[in-house]
Amino acid sequence: MRAFEATQIFFDAAAEHLKIDPAMREALLMPNREIQVQVSIEMDNGQLANFVGFRVQHDSARGPMKGGLRFHPKVDLDEVRSLACLMTWKTAVVNLPYGGAKGGIGVDPTRLSEREIERLTRAFVDQIHDVVGPDSDIPAPDMGTDHLVMSWFRNQWEKYHGFNPAVITGKPVEEYGARGREEATGRGVGTLTVKLVRRLGMKPEATNIAIQGFGNVGTHAAKFLSEAQFPIVAVSDVTGTYYNPEGLEVRELLRHTMKHPKGFIEGFEPCEVLPRDALLNLEDVSVLIPAALGGVITEENVDDIRAKVIIEAANGPILPQADIVLQERGVIVLPDILANAGGVTVSYFEWVQNRQHYRWSLDRVRQELDHTMNEAFETIWETAKKHNVSLRTAAYMIGIARVHRATELAGMI
Ligand code: GLU
Repeated sequence: MRAFEATQIFFDAAAEHLKIDPAMREALLMPNREIQVQVSIEMDNGQLANFVGFRVQHDSARGPMKGGLRFHPKVDLDEVRSLACLMTWKTAVVNLPYGGAKGGIGVDPTRLSEREIERLTRAFVDQIHDVVGPDSDIPAPDMGTDHLVMSWFRNQWEKYHGFNPAVITGKPVEEYGARGREEATGRGVGTLTVKLVRRLGMKPEATNIAIQGFGNVGTHAAKFLSEAQFPIVAVSDVTGTYYNPEGLEVRELLRHTMKHPKGFIEGFEPCEVLPRDALLNLEDVSVLIPAALGGVITEENVDDIRAKVIIEAANGPILPQADIVLQERGVIVLPDILANAGGVTVSYFEWVQNRQHYRWSLDRVRQELDHTMNEAFETIWETAKKHNVSLRTAAYMIGIARVHRATELAGMI
């Protein structure tokens, strides 16, 4: 199943509950604008290389569109469209004054030098600079991009439009970035995991966690949750699954990945090394946190999942057919548009600071983030109870209802 089709199925389930008529559903789901561009650069060896870049601007009813830039070989128009659509509901779920967008380039950044990535980023900006801006569409980091890419993006955009760091978020802290932006998604995942586990009457010390993916989100979630006394029994990355039933030494693990040239877990001990996908089916795991790619829990592998709770730190990790099976089995799923909204929330704080030429302390960022996430969680929890629906349908209902209202107020009908 293609990514956008999956997102549409989740959307439809909620739109049905909200009794939104078919034409309005179509208007809400259809992207405002989709841009595909050629991105050609000179490689370090002097050869020409061509890539395809995208920016999908999904909806702007609630404010400037917002969403990350992904550099990954799997990036295509369908994936970016689905991720842009998720951003629209995500920003609405946490009640930020934004719409949704997403962009990316089909490229494997691990095969490029830093200079090549810089040239790629600047060439991409040359193609799309006219359609992004602090009041229209504000990019940010996502898979395969980081604060350096944000910095090059801003610098190149400012060559056309003049000084305005609010054009992009996730910048280096010393260059108008917000303190706490880098940890934000992982921290949000951690905060809500603690809350949900307590709500379900489970004890942190007795709740084993497995995290799939050990990039920005996975590492920060692991750090937060191990500090909250959860045993992190397994983590995985492209090199395999690393499992220790007694709980991994997370501090050592973070130190190890920081020393590894590519940030991999490879070579870490003491632990058992299992195949990459073994992480999904471990017997003694209560909370599973997919924090890597989308579409990893499918009809084919859902029956092997043993966890009672799944926190979607990644965007779209569970496909709709698998979601139904999990629901029937009573597995609680905290949906992506709520679980990983901490990143875009602190992006909003960064944008606000940039516009005010003011800097918040890390304490203030964390406090406001925790407040935003807790409030969104309670709203969705109550909605799920009231309408007897899953947390996913409840989150979509809240997000869609807010965008629908803004669309009506804007006078579309
Ligand atoms: N890429 C992140 C996401 O999927 C963050 C987007 C942002 O900060 O604008 O939510």
